[in-house]
Amino acid sequence: MEAIRNPMRTPGRAAAEALDSGQLDVAVVGAGFAGLAAARALEAAGASTVVLEARDRVGGRVLNAPIGDGEVVEAGGQWIGPTQDRVAALAGELGVETFPTHTEGSNLLRLDGRLRRYRGTIPRLAPPVLIDVARGLRKLNRLAEQIDPEAPWLARDAARLDSTSLGDWVERTMWTRTAKRLLRIATRTTFGAEPEELSMLHVAFYLRSAGSFEMLTDVEGGAQQDRLVGGSQEIVLRIAEQLGDRVRLDAPVSSIATDPSGLAIRAGNTEIRARRAIVTVPPPIRSRIEFAPELPAIHRQLAQRMPMGWLVKATAVYPEPFWRDDGLSGEALNDDGPVTITFDNSPPSGVPGALVGFVGGSDARSFARLGKSERRRAVLGSFQSLFGPRALAAEQYLERDWADEGWSGGGPVANFPTGGWTAAGPALREPVGLVHWAGTETATRWSGYIDGAISSGERAAGEVLAAL
Ligand SMILES: Cc1cc2nc3c(=O)[nH]c(=O)nc-3n(C[C@H](O)[C@H](O)[C@H](O)COP(=O)(O)OP(=O)(O)OC[C@H]3O[C@@H](n4cnc5c(N)ncnc54)[C@H](O)[C@@H]3O)c2cc1C
Repeated sequence: MEAIRNPMRTPGRAAAEALDSGQLDVAVVGAGFAGLAAARALEAAGASTVVLEARDRVGGRVLNAPIGDGEVVEAGGQWIGPTQDRVAALAGELGVETFPTHTEGSNLLRLDGRLRRYRGTIPRLAPPVLIDVARGLRKLNRLAEQIDPEAPWLARDAARLDSTSLGDWVERTMWTRTAKRLLRIATRTTFGAEPEELSMLHVAFYLRSAGSFEMLTDVEGGAQQDRLVGGSQEIVLRIAEQLGDRVRLDAPVSSIATDPSGLAIRAGNTEIRARRAIVTVPPPIRSRIEFAPELPAIHRQLAQRMPMGWLVKATAVYPEPFWRDDGLSGEALNDDGPVTITFDNSPPSGVPGALVGFVGGSDARSFARLGKSERRRAVLGSFQSLFGPRALAAEQYLERDWADEGWSGGGPVANFPTGGWTAAGPALREPVGLVHWAGTETATRWSGYIDGAISSGERAAGEVLAAL
């Protein structure tokens, strides 16, 4: 395993020979889950492949962060859940085990400065609020059922839904202030965006691709149900190890030119020739690559019409998960930021204790303007308001602002604001000549998630193999 722990910065002999002789079948751009799943499928089918990764590491929006004694927490994507079949299968094939997210104990809700305990996903609230929440979610799920995730722009109501924001819809549909605030909290972490920034057609598509609102937000039975032993990056590290020198780090692709004999791809100082390319970078990051000839207008529009969300993930590490002694699960919703959602993110053994918190949407924008120590103070202050003064005594504090990462542009995912799906949605997956597209945003199941990234890579690999 040592080889993958040390990034491979130079190509090995086999890859170098293939590159020099111009014999490559496929160049995959990006070594996140999508790119590595694509390369794995291509190699298994006998296609010669190289994966070109801009960063000095694999994983993209997934990254393990060591917290000592061989334990890790995740700085990016981490949870998996039921119906996420591709990630479950891949973890199984690679021998990466799962364990359940810690849920024992009561959850917390902090609203208007008042702290209450509850169990399950929906807090115990006044009956009008509960009715409002239930009715709102039922309506959202019903809208989602109308959407064909392969072509949301063809939905009967597509034009109307795409001209309305989730914020407008909430104002018109929900009537209690508390229900509206709970939905905003969920939106900030799920999309890294405010409800006003999201097209209703996009929200309906996103719910449909996951199954329902509850599938997105639940722990047990939903997207936060399970974690991966050794951290989520373990899967990509193992794939990269299998691919060996076919993965090239520090290789940012700056141009892809089509000529009569195939593709010329510039990555750093090297030019690579390939018969096909699979570009797996997030849609807005596609514009960092110069295409010759230029991409069709709809593809260039896509890159401008699908901004990344803004999400910061912060972890505080303690000698032990002290909140468990107080009968708390570590899961909390908080209407007073910067941290609006927390979870117990301790390793399987429970030692050390780790609390993870999310700062998303407009909170993330103002948070990013604070200095380093102010941010730490603000996050620990949020934890203290939920879990008491012991939360201030963190042994370690880790934080990642995904909007600060040039090769991601933000997180957790790129979203369509109003008008986006109907203007540019078809360009998400439609190949352009010899160039194919993957990445979680192009997925039709679990779009935005690790599972969607994997299926998108496998789908693009299938397209390329059929074409070759
Ligand atoms: C804070 C956070 C929390 C999340 N939580 C979860 C979760 O709990 N569960 C879940 O399932 N998902 C979660 N996600 C989402 C999940 O991480 C992503 O859906 C998934 O990792 C995307 O994989 P991808 O391969 O499509 O894209 P990426 O991981 O973005 O990979 C694209 C790769 O392309 C590279 N690249 C970009 N431009 C170039 C270029 N020009 N040349 C070469 N390489 C380039 C990038 O460096 C990157 O490595 C979360 C994301 C974040 C940020």
